[in-house]
Order: sequence, then C-alpha cells, then structure tokens
Amino acid sequence: MNRRDFIKISCTTSFVLIPALAVAADALVTSDDPMGKALDYVSQSTVAGNSCANCVQSRGDAGATALACNLFPGKQVSATGLCKAWSKKA
Ligand code: SF4
Repeated sequence: MNRRDFIKISCTTSFVLIPALAVAADALVTSDDPMGKALDYVSQSTVAGNSCANCVQSRGDAGATALACNLFPGKQVSATGLCKAWSKKA
C-alpha cells in the first residue's frame, strides 16, 4: 500500500465511522438506576398530561421516544416516563 492509498482509505474510514459514533444513543434509564429510584422514575407515566416529553428538564426532538434529561446526564429517559421532579415546560 502506498502513501496515497493509505490516505484515501483513512479519509474514507473517518467519514464513515465518526458520524456513526457521534449518533450512538445514550442508554435509557432503567428501573434499577439509583437516581431513577431516588426520583421514583417510571418509563410509563400514569399521570395524565405529565410526562418527560413536556417536562422542563427534558431536551430533544418533539415526537422522539427517548429524550435527554438534565437530571440524568449521559443517559436518556423515555418520552412517556415521569419522575417526582417533573415540572411543566413553559
Ligand atoms: S426530570 Fe422531567 S424529564 Fe427528567 S425524568 Fe423527571 S419527569 Fe422526566
């Protein structure tokens, strides 16, 4: 392999792998998550009108099934979830 081929392969590989790694989703908060337990997090809200999707702490696209939450850094919560820190998004 000459230098030119090496550079071509390196560039092609970078363009394929970097976006794939960048969009890797964070893990969903599970029922045994310590912070989730402390906040009584559930993945399916039983309170009509209250869910992670309309909580001020959530971030993400409208209609997404999983969202980032300020209280669970590095993880995601279910859009239908709920915890006792819920506060209505303005
Ligand atoms: S703070 Fe809000 S978005 Fe985060 S888990 Fe609780 S209800 Fe869901």
